[in-house]
Order: sequence, then C-alpha cells, then structure tokens
Amino acid sequence: MRTSRYLLSTLKENPVEAVVDSHRLMLRAGLIRQVASGIYNWLPTGLRVLHKVEAIIREEMNKKGAIELSMPVVQPADLWRESGRYVKYGPELCRLNDRKQNEFVLGPTHEEVITALCRNEIKSARQLPMNLYQIQTKFRDEVRPRFGVMRGREFIMKDGYSFHVDHESLEQTYQDMYDAYTAIFTRLGLTFRAVEADTGSIGGNHSHEFQVLADAGEDTIAYSDESNYAANIEMAEALAPLESRGEAKDPYSKVPTPGCHTVDEAAKALKIESNQVMKSLLVRGEPDADGKYELIMLCLRGNEELNEIKAGKLPGVSNPLEFATDEEIFEFTGAHPGSLGPVGFKGRIIIDRNANIMSNFACGANEDGHHLINVNFDRDIPTYEVADLRNVVEGDPSPDGHGKILLRKGIEVGQVFMLGTKYSEAMGATVTDKNGKNIPMEMGCYGIGVTRVVAAAIEQHHDDKGIVWPDSMAPFTVGIIALGLGKSEEVKNASEKLYNELEALGVEVLYDDRDERAGVMFSDMELIGIPHVITIGAKGLAQGIIEYKNRRSGEKESIAADQILENIKAKLNI
Ligand code: ATP
Ligand code: MG
Repeated sequence: MRTSRYLLSTLKENPVEAVVDSHRLMLRAGLIRQVASGIYNWLPTGLRVLHKVEAIIREEMNKKGAIELSMPVVQPADLWRESGRYVKYGPELCRLNDRKQNEFVLGPTHEEVITALCRNEIKSARQLPMNLYQIQTKFRDEVRPRFGVMRGREFIMKDGYSFHVDHESLEQTYQDMYDAYTAIFTRLGLTFRAVEADTGSIGGNHSHEFQVLADAGEDTIAYSDESNYAANIEMAEALAPLESRGEAKDPYSKVPTPGCHTVDEAAKALKIESNQVMKSLLVRGEPDADGKYELIMLCLRGNEELNEIKAGKLPGVSNPLEFATDEEIFEFTGAHPGSLGPVGFKGRIIIDRNANIMSNFACGANEDGHHLINVNFDRDIPTYEVADLRNVVEGDPSPDGHGKILLRKGIEVGQVFMLGTKYSEAMGATVTDKNGKNIPMEMGCYGIGVTRVVAAAIEQHHDDKGIVWPDSMAPFTVGIIALGLGKSEEVKNASEKLYNELEALGVEVLYDDRDERAGVMFSDMELIGIPHVITIGAKGLAQGIIEYKNRRSGEKESIAADQILENIKAKLNI
C-alpha cells in the first residue's frame, strides 16, 4: 500500500476526548473515528487489524469443528417475548418498529434467533452435537459507552452457540471452546486469565470470562497468590471470618449526629473507626405477580463494599439488584439514607458474614441526624439472616483454601457459558432421544468481543511513540520510508523495487511515498506500530546501505542494499 494512495488519517495531537491509551492511539493512528456516541467508523488501517483478529478466531473455531453461519442484526420482538427477555433485558435492548408497526429489536446477542433456527433445523439427537458461530455486528444501548471501541454501543462479536443431547456433551464442547479461546488469545499475543464468572443477563449456570490484564480494565479479577483460583470479583466468595463475635457490653443509646450522611462522617462524629459503624442499605425484594415487593435491609461493615451480584442472587432479592428509592426508604423507615440501621427495622435483615462478628457497634437510628451506639446482635436485633454480601479485598483467604487473594484489573474480551436448557425449554427447541422421548436440547454459548480485543491489545502493547502490535495483529508487516523520493532517482528506484518484491511475496507493506519530512514519516510508522521499518535514503545508498529498525526492540541495523530483500525474508521467516 502506498501512503500517497491510502487513507492514512494519523493525528499529531492527542484527542481530548480520549482518556485511555488505546482510545487515544486508535484515534491518532487512524484506526477509528467516532460517528455517534459508542458508534464508530473503522478506517482502512483499523479494518486490516480487525480482519487479522477475525481470521485467527475463524481458524481456531473451525479447528474445533464449529461451523460459521450468519444471522440478522434486526430480530423480531416476538422471539424475545418467547424467551422472556423482551422486558427483562431492559433499556440496553434497542427496540424499533417497521413501517407496518411490527416490533423488532437490534440484536445485542443471538440466543433467541439461533434457538428458533435450531428448533426447526435440528430434529434428531443424531444431528448433535452442533456448534454454530458467526462474526457479526451487535447493538447494546449501553448506559455509559466509553473508552472508544472498548465499550461501544455498536460492536462486533464472535458469538457461538452449541446444542447437545445431554450435559456431558455440553461439557465436552464447553471445554473445546475454552481451549479454542485460550489458543486465540495466545496467538493474539495477549496476557490474559480465564476466570470464574457470573452469567448475567445471558443466564445459565456455569461460566468463565477471559480477561486481558490491564489497568484500564473495568473489571476486577480476584486470584490466589498460591493456587489457580481466579474469579471475577463479582463471583469471588468472601469466606466467613474465623474470629467470633465479642461480648455485648453497655445497652445501646441514641446520640445526635447532625449532618452525617455517610459512614465516614458518622465515624468521625462518633470518634470511632468506620469499621465499627454498620452500613445499612435498603434494596428491593423480588417483585410478586402484581409487581409488588418488600424492602430488605443489607448490613455490612462500614469500610466494606456491597457486592451487588452476590446480593442479587440471594433468594427473594431483586435480580439484577435494585436499590430502594429515597422516597421508598423514607416512607418505610421514617428516615433518609445515611441514618438507617437494623434496630427496630420492620423488614427482612441480611447481615454480611464479616459484619456478623461485630459487637458494640454504631448504626443509623432510623431517625434523621441520629445514630445508635453499643448495638449488638440478638440482644438488640433479634431476627436476621447471614450471607456473603461483600466484595473480597486483597489479603482475604482464597475461597479454595489455598493462599491469599490478590486483585488485578481486567478487560473482558470473551466469555463462555453453559446455558443448560434455559432457552431450549422456553422456546421449545427439542429433539427425540433414543427412547423416542422429546427432550429440550442442552445449550452452550461463547462470545468474543472482536472490536474490544483490538483496544485491549493496544492497552497491553504500546509505548510513548505509539502502538507496538503483536505480529499477529499488525495492519502491515513491513514499512518502507523513502527519504527525499522526489529528489533522488536512486532512492525512488530502490524503494519501488523493494516494495514490488515484497508485495509479490505476499508481504503486507506500507510504503511511505509521500515525500514528507523524515520526522513525519518515522513518527507515523511508529505510531501505527509497524513491526519492521526500512528506511531508504540517498546518503545510505551512496554507501550501499539501507537502514532497518525493529519497532518492538528498537534495534537498528545497517544492511547492505543488495542484501535487503534476503535479510527481510529471513526476519519474516519466508
Ligand atoms: P460487559 O460486562 O463488558 O458489559 P458482557 O459480559 O455484557 O460485557 P457478553 O454478553 O459476555 O458481554 O458478550 C461477549 C463479549 O462481547 C464480551 O466478552 C465483550 O468482549 C464483548 N462486549 C460486550 N459488550 C461490549 C461493548 N459494549 N462494546 C464492545 N464489546 C463488548
Ligand atoms: Mg460477559
């Protein structure tokens, strides 16, 4: 590719809207341009990278016997009603009508469409297992699209779905996909961990996420310093503490805490540590058939964080977890958030395992501007349940009993789920088994965020000059910089010759023939992150020399001009 005939679109300045390195570099290197919030053009250089990622995904999926197909972005709302997700998916699901007022959605994922397809196409258990995938555009109306294509609204996903006669077969394919994902992310040159994960709105009962380790990640991974244990913090269990609760001392009493709305403010006013204050939060219970729900109090140690995923999974609690509004809270307790507490609370109370060993603690008095001190369980709070409600923190014991928990930030680039029969049952996707009985098929589903992978790779592979692509993802393999092309016939001839020879070998070359200043051409090559850069100038040629620079190592070499092709071929192993 000649830069003079190409849409290079590099930017000299850092775009102000980019807060993470990958977003900044994707804009500067001319990979993407925003069209609307969370919606992007992929410019030619970006598209070349995407194609590399897609090719590796296809190869590894095909190796495991998965078969590619293509399903529509626009999906009938009725299919989503069948699965029960039309309402449940919430505002992230973009709903629209056609001219006849038929209702549709923009597919955020394809369980419904594939299940509807396979209930018609797969009749007999003999056709199973079947593993189908596509690489296709998704739309999710994310609340907070950000970090460029890392969290877009329109993005490309590889999504795969498998169908099975029994759980054993599902387990086999799940393992195959786990292995395929491991191979894909390894070939892409990413440092990642597969971690135990929540199944979220996709559903099912067993899942792993593939997390690329990077500080810009939105997820937190908990892992053991001694064992293989690794889980998304959403899932990581906080074990019950070994210590037991201390003795109750003085009876509780009420003290004024005017203007204190947070645990820290209350602790300061009461001259105690925040871990001696009980944090009380009101959430909604699971709604009944009429949409009515109770309010439930969750209590944690003041210095610890509620884990909304774990709380949402407790029986009778809203899932996804919903907090009570300020009005609901006031109506139910007579106080506002910041002054709540379990003493005298009229509803269900759930205490975190760590909070359960507190004694003689402080909590809100359910009266604005007041707290209670010297509160104790049983004596002052007769009825309560105990559950795992908090986020694990570094230093906690690993739930598998080996070592201590450490935390790292991660970018979720893929997730595999065992769905079981959630969709096949709801949508009637059955086969006849060997006894002639109709049974719902077991299903698995497997996603990779193709566009997010590109951003995640840049987070891990860049320096102050720009992107440093892993070889497998680089948009071009070799860059040729022709210095003073307009002035020197020799430079022109040598550059054109090398360009043509490499192209003929099938090497992807970006040939900078713009006759720009040397500095501009160098910095563009480094910004785009081309692994091998060759510089041809009149001075060097006069001495029979061509310069080479390796983007990753930064090493420079002067190579005899008549050896340059052979030298590069050796570097590329061709
Ligand atoms: P997240 O927790 O990041 O919102 P998710 O768990 O909802 O993602 P999945 O349903 O598991 O996403 O989708 C499969 C993959 O698609 C994810 O692992 C991720 O790589 C990618 N993905 C999901 N949402 C987005 C998005 N808004 N922008 C880009 N990629 C996304
Ligand atoms: Mg996910």
